[in-house]
Amino acid sequence: MNVCFTPDSNGSVIANLQVKPILLEQVKEAQKLDEKLVKLTREVQNGGKLDFTLTEDGVLFYQNMLCIPNDDKLRRKIPNETHISPYAMHHGGTKMYQTSKEHYWWNGMKRDIAEFISKCLVCQQVKAEHQVPVGLLHPCRCRNGNGRE
Ligand SMILES: [Zn+2]
Repeated sequence: MNVCFTPDSNGSVIANLQVKPILLEQVKEAQKLDEKLVKLTREVQNGGKLDFTLTEDGVLFYQNMLCIPNDDKLRRKIPNETHISPYAMHHGGTKMYQTSKEHYWWNGMKRDIAEFISKCLVCQQVKAEHQVPVGLLHPCRCRNGNGRE
């Protein structure tokens, strides 16, 4: 599938957006089911909401960010793909939010990402390893050695 973006009137860099075509297609379909985004789309078509743009395909962007509709599946899928990609490698919440907000936009994204990370088993494990109290890092060997032959 060949997805071609047209830069908006500001000549901004929508064309550089690295969103997988499949994901984009899903977002596009789901945008039509989100009342708020449908309303925004109409306002953009009527020349309002200058922060928002529509691609030729009719996909709604907020500045250069893809508007993610209120769809639980998508809002879980995106953090998942961003978080476990070879480039992200389980970045923490702040870093991940910084990366995500370059590409995606939705109300409560920061909160959703924080929640996503709080449920990521790999992150929890890493965090736990870093948070072991100093006293527990080196268990007393004499105790471990006692009682054995
Ligand atoms: Zn993680």
